[in-house]
Amino acid sequence: MSKEENLECSFCGRKKAETDLLIAGMDAHICDKCIEQAHGIVEEEVSETKTNGLSKDLTLRKPIQIKEFLDQYIIGQDETKRSMSVAVYNHYKRLLQTKDSEDDDVEIEKSNIVLVGETGTGKTLVAKTIARMLNVPFAIVDATVLTQAGYVGEDVESILSKLLQAADYDVEKAQRGIIFIDEIDKIARKGDNPSITRDVSGEGVQQALLKLLEGTVVNVAPKGGRKHPEQKFIEVDTKEILFIAGGAFSGIERFISKRLNMQAVGFTASLDDDKVDEENLLKYIIPSDLKAFGLIPEIIGRLPVLSYMNPLDATTLRAILTEPKNAIIKQYSKLFTMDEVDFTIEEGALNYIVEKAVAYKLGARGLRSLCEAIFTDAMFELPSSEEKTFNVTKEYAEAKLTNTTLKKLKAAS
Ligand code: ADP
Repeated sequence: MSKEENLECSFCGRKKAETDLLIAGMDAHICDKCIEQAHGIVEEEVSETKTNGLSKDLTLRKPIQIKEFLDQYIIGQDETKRSMSVAVYNHYKRLLQTKDSEDDDVEIEKSNIVLVGETGTGKTLVAKTIARMLNVPFAIVDATVLTQAGYVGEDVESILSKLLQAADYDVEKAQRGIIFIDEIDKIARKGDNPSITRDVSGEGVQQALLKLLEGTVVNVAPKGGRKHPEQKFIEVDTKEILFIAGGAFSGIERFISKRLNMQAVGFTASLDDDKVDEENLLKYIIPSDLKAFGLIPEIIGRLPVLSYMNPLDATTLRAILTEPKNAIIKQYSKLFTMDEVDFTIEEGALNYIVEKAVAYKLGARGLRSLCEAIFTDAMFELPSSEEKTFNVTKEYAEAKLTNTTLKKLKAAS
């Protein structure tokens, strides 16, 4: 017998002739059958750690801890951070329930969320931060591009293609992800009276969204759209996906105010002790205000957690510049450090940036554009210069932010 034929699998002992394939290692061999078996074991182990991972997340992060995590990235918005923490905690408890206690009759409903607040107040940031904490796939979709099936635009199902992409086409992972639906207010029916001013497309999209929010199995075109008719559909179950909807709902204050006034007539006494904050009526928002704005009651029912974002004042903007874990100024500082430049910015300069953001109504997003305008020259020149320190004074910031730059930023915002 040749030496070659003497070879055997070091795991099961099969002779080379009895195998389809025998792979040689340093001092051992493995046959195709053992590879297959070993692969099965690995798969099983990995999926076990995945499910355990879920329960571990839950035992590790209680609502208070979830909020502490959010606090690292999001300034203020305490009310929303609290209700989000509870909603997310309950959402994952619900997932555990469907896994462990199917014999129980009490079914916990989904805690999808709707956030109401001006643009740039951090709605997307809150949703994104939650996804980052949970380490689940996250997709942002814009409700304005959605249409009912059959109309020009994107079908509601395209939302799921985005999540699949974010999950690298791992369906299991996608099914535990988070979807942020931006500008949900834009698909509202115009007016509260459906029989007079019926906005068919808006209402149609809301109807189409209903099933997704609640939980259904959808055939998803992985690449989205109709441009790839040859692609195979993937089945995605939305039952465990957490949906967070956001919108500015501009003008909703008039419904809130009307409702509060009506209540005041009926219950004068109760409102006397509790003075209404006219500056920030959003904090009194309740689901029926969303209905008055034009969301259909079924949608509101499927977004049971309602919260609001406060407008950003100068103090908040100032904090956003330097306090979050990945604050804008910290990011610039890191960029300069990579060129071994010691970067400092004086309080006066920071206040000046905030002052301009407020004066030109640029919001939190504008802070980055303002910084970019101030630091670009330095970022261009310093990497090739001998200068190893860069201290930004108010005067320096003023000199870089000309009126033309500010006007440009305003126009772009
Ligand atoms: P929205 O979704 O409400 O339009 P975003 O979440 O997109 O607003 O916010 C825009 C940017 O502004 C964020 O990426 C973040 O840098 C900053 N920002 C807004 N609000 C806050 C906040 N409360 N804390 C920290 N950063 C914020």
